Amino acid sequence: MDEPVAADDRRPTCPLCGNRAFQREEGKFDSQWGMTAHQVTLLICEQCQYVLPFYKGNSIFDFD
Ligand SMILES: [Zn+2]
Repeated sequence: MDEPVAADDRRPTCPLCGNRAFQREEGKFDSQWGMTAHQVTLLICEQCQYVLPFYKGNSIFDFD
């Protein structure tokens, strides 16, 4: 069901170092006009600290 190997195929690869282990952070940004808040997921490469930002619910990757 939730095999790590199968899920690994859907995870992003760091464009800088090719690492596939990321620290995951979630949060939100307020828009420039303060009307809406954007849910975001940040993946931080554990190797080079490169940050991959994703809009929550609008990602091609399925983290769960
Ligand atoms: Zn990296």
